[in-house]
Amino acid sequence: MTHGKQQDRVPAAMLKRLDVTLQEQYHQSLAEVLAELRLRNVLTEVEPEPERIFSIMIHARVLSPVASPSVRQVRGALERFLSGTYGRCAGCGKAIPAAVLENDPTTTVCSDCRELRTLPSA
Ligand SMILES: [Zn+2]
Repeated sequence: MTHGKQQDRVPAAMLKRLDVTLQEQYHQSLAEVLAELRLRNVLTEVEPEPERIFSIMIHARVLSPVASPSVRQVRGALERFLSGTYGRCAGCGKAIPAAVLENDPTTTVCSDCRELRTLPSA
């Protein structure tokens, strides 16, 4: 079924965003961070599931709480993912389409609410 496939693509997009953010902010790739976590015995799986990686990133405090806006965005997205609120619009509460999340995994609003927010206030 295509349904499950589409759901897998959002965590994949999240991992990619996480990788980009780590490289930009910490000059380390996600693979390097995971290798280090294996050395520290924080991570034992050879091929961890995305959710496991997200959980480790939060609980091992890999993403510093006093960090740049992009780190805070990724951190927030990971936390929502783990708490099960990920993918729900902060504006209207509806589910954000998977395609939107794939395009920007850290988005907190659906495209309708985003448009409303960016409209100039009259
Ligand atoms: Zn919305």
